[in-house]
Amino acid sequence: MAGHVVVQKFGGTSVADPEAIRRLIAIASRARATHGRGPVVVVSAMSGVTDVLLLLAQTAADGDLATARARLTELRERHRRALAELAPDALSTIAPLIDSELDRVETLLPWFADTRTVSLAALDEVGAAGELASSRLVAAAMKTAGVPSVWIDARHVIVTDDNHTRAVPRTMETNAAVRERLTGVLDEGGVPVMGGFVGATAEGVTTTLGRGGSDYSGALVGAGIDASEIQIWTDVDGLMTADPRLVANARVVPHLSFAEAAELAYFGAKVLHPATILPAIERDIPVLILNSRNADAPGTRITASPPPNRRPLTGLAGKRGLTVIDITSGRMLMAYGFLRRVFEVFERYRTAVDVVTTSEVSVSVTVDDTRDLDAIVAALSEFATVSVDSGMALLCAVGDRLPGEPAIAARAVSVLEEVPLEMISQAASRRNITVVLREVDLAKAMHRLHEEFFE
Ligand code: ADP
Ligand code: ASP
Ligand code: MG
Repeated sequence: MAGHVVVQKFGGTSVADPEAIRRLIAIASRARATHGRGPVVVVSAMSGVTDVLLLLAQTAADGDLATARARLTELRERHRRALAELAPDALSTIAPLIDSELDRVETLLPWFADTRTVSLAALDEVGAAGELASSRLVAAAMKTAGVPSVWIDARHVIVTDDNHTRAVPRTMETNAAVRERLTGVLDEGGVPVMGGFVGATAEGVTTTLGRGGSDYSGALVGAGIDASEIQIWTDVDGLMTADPRLVANARVVPHLSFAEAAELAYFGAKVLHPATILPAIERDIPVLILNSRNADAPGTRITASPPPNRRPLTGLAGKRGLTVIDITSGRMLMAYGFLRRVFEVFERYRTAVDVVTTSEVSVSVTVDDTRDLDAIVAALSEFATVSVDSGMALLCAVGDRLPGEPAIAARAVSVLEEVPLEMISQAASRRNITVVLREVDLAKAMHRLHEEFFE
């Protein structure tokens, strides 16, 4: 029986160095004392490591093997130094295992240089090394500190499709693997420690869940063991009313609904990977966002039905780097079959559209994945006139009160009066109002809304 086990996911800054890892061990030990078993610990790569790994693969493909190797050596040393400090007793056994994760990357580098490309499958092998290494490091540090940790290979737990670099987990297989690999360890009193972000296909080929995907891993594991709580430990005091890097007055939202959190994450609140909430909803498991540097702060609690919000809105989110595609039909838009043909093109290229607006003769959509933009535009141009605008952003206001109180949306739009808006979207039953604007206007627009609704 796995009741009252919590899953604790620690992000990159929460495993950045020996000090951070010591805090992690204290937090996990406290959960163990409170619940009498577990926790399950899911960790990101040490902060910045994923960026370095992905970049050094590209550096090799650009022909600069020496620099790529030098960067990899720095990563080896960073892990080894942390291991030597936290688990000197395990240096001779664990350092070679961490090295072997990075060796796999090293053997790929000459191949990138020869072919001048990095396939997405190879990129997943490279990216996965960060979490595989950090999880081995954290497991060893815990053991040295007297916590009975057991390292778990995430590739045996998270089963995905083969959509490399944004693989989609297969729920049934993943649930079964989570139970098979973790329940026994928990029942024997162990603390499973695994890397987030990483998975594998049913055939065993390494995949990753997309940037920021360790949160998603934590939630998948939580759903699989039917955890009593999924805790996301990060570097801010919780989910905030706006991106704290853009709005200095942003404040912590103490409690919000799964639906609100899912929309804020989807529309750009980086503190939570957009898919994290799905497994939690399925099993109705509360998700907490907590600060590993300020472990006693209450954080943010995300559940199905929070107490009613006094404020008209719950939070704001923004996303840069969007492209708007305007698709104009030669005939009336409503000529039947037109919209179907449009969306078939996006489906064919597995490209998600975020916002859609229509007029009589045209439909505008936003995308953030532009990998297949040229092909998409070519396909659309076979039956429509297409224009493309990059450098756009999206600003989204979210709140469970929006569907029932249309005046809130009207007030939000009127507050943005001086900002040129490209698109406005609010479906009647939705808990968000979304505007598309130029990237350069995002910060100003977010400030205006924040002032009006939260200050
Ligand atoms: P981790 O490495 O722990 O996963 P991330 O960098 O992915 O951390 O996410 C945490 C960061 O998200 C915060 O430092 C903050 O700058 C940013 N962020 C953006 N929007 C929000 C928001 N609405 N609430 C809290 N943090 C946010
Ligand atoms: N390390 C991965 C990234 O940087 C996954 C994560 O941290 O959630 O995207
Ligand atoms: Mg993150």
